[in-house]
Amino acid sequence: MIHVERRGIRRYTCSGCGGRTGRVRSVRDRTWDDLPWAAHHVTLVYPQRRLVCRHCGVRTERVEFADPKARVTRRFRQLIGLDCQSMPTSHAAVRHGVSWGKARRAELTFLEHWDQTRRRQRPRHIGLDEIQRGKGQRFWTVLSDVVHGEVMGLRQDRTEETARTLLTTDLDAAQRGRIQAVCTDMHRPYLNAVTTELPKADVVFDKFHVLQHASAALDDVRRQEFFRAGAVMRTHGRGKRWLLLRRWKTVRGSKRRELQQLFAVNRRLFKAYVLREQLDRLWSYKTPPGVGNFLIAWVEALRWQRLPEMEKLGAFLVRHLEGIAAYCFHPVRFGVVESVNTTIKGVLRRARGMRDEHMLLLKLKWATAHPIRSARDLARFLDLQPVYSNR
Ligand SMILES: [Zn+2]
Repeated sequence: MIHVERRGIRRYTCSGCGGRTGRVRSVRDRTWDDLPWAAHHVTLVYPQRRLVCRHCGVRTERVEFADPKARVTRRFRQLIGLDCQSMPTSHAAVRHGVSWGKARRAELTFLEHWDQTRRRQRPRHIGLDEIQRGKGQRFWTVLSDVVHGEVMGLRQDRTEETARTLLTTDLDAAQRGRIQAVCTDMHRPYLNAVTTELPKADVVFDKFHVLQHASAALDDVRRQEFFRAGAVMRTHGRGKRWLLLRRWKTVRGSKRRELQQLFAVNRRLFKAYVLREQLDRLWSYKTPPGVGNFLIAWVEALRWQRLPEMEKLGAFLVRHLEGIAAYCFHPVRFGVVESVNTTIKGVLRRARGMRDEHMLLLKLKWATAHPIRSARDLARFLDLQPVYSNR
């Protein structure tokens, strides 16, 4: 225990208004956990005054080293909060010799303090995406800044109402004014919310989602072919689902040969695979007519193939052509969209039972904003206050 004592100054700062007064009503010893000294956990003991302030009435005295009502000092809170971002809260609590509740409160204050004091970004492109939480049909909607790759908002559900709340309350007017494009999937409620709340912004469909539909169609073709196939196809086609759904450029060596053998046996599967691979080119054109012509040619190539699943996909793409071609004007960084989603999944996996939505959002913001990249960043988080001297 370290006993702290004031020297020199006779007047105390009111925690309500920040004014100084000498009128003390009572004194009580209070304790704060602080950074360790050598191998020992440290508790500070300080007789905190209750003051009679001219403006606020009876208030406690303000201390420089801790927030009002906090049970740990500010610098200790920073250390615990920072550790909690790279280890479970229970682990950080044990490491610093505090209870789980204290560590959790420290973490929350740490993250809130960081979130309130940092600069607000005004991205040109934002993303509106759904994520699945847990088993069953529990969905959340995530609003993200896809220019800087950061999460901006999180709400339960994936309804139009949810999306609208996200766009209106989690973004201020200045931020909404800067938005040129919204990257989202073909989920109807999201599209409705974007058209009503951001009439000036264009919708750009997420490439990943479009290709997911294409892979689903390819999978249907595989299932059909496998169903009515003879013995040769069965021996070659068994257990090839994941291989078939992978992109050609990511398949290597012997796996490539396996695929080629499969295609040699079944031409229709080969055709469907090639058609899926070609869809990549939808995002390589500079003008909407280019995209349109490519898609028409793509659908034309289907004509005599008797691949109803791919034809359905073609009709689907034509219906959503506008959102796909919008990429020509708004080159959204799909790689950033993907990496944000991956980070979100990682945080969710670690925060398995977390029920507190506010805390989860802050953790997601931290994980995606990735604010510590250098020694100087780290120092900024750990050294908060200047050294006071009353000599
Ligand atoms: Zn006061």
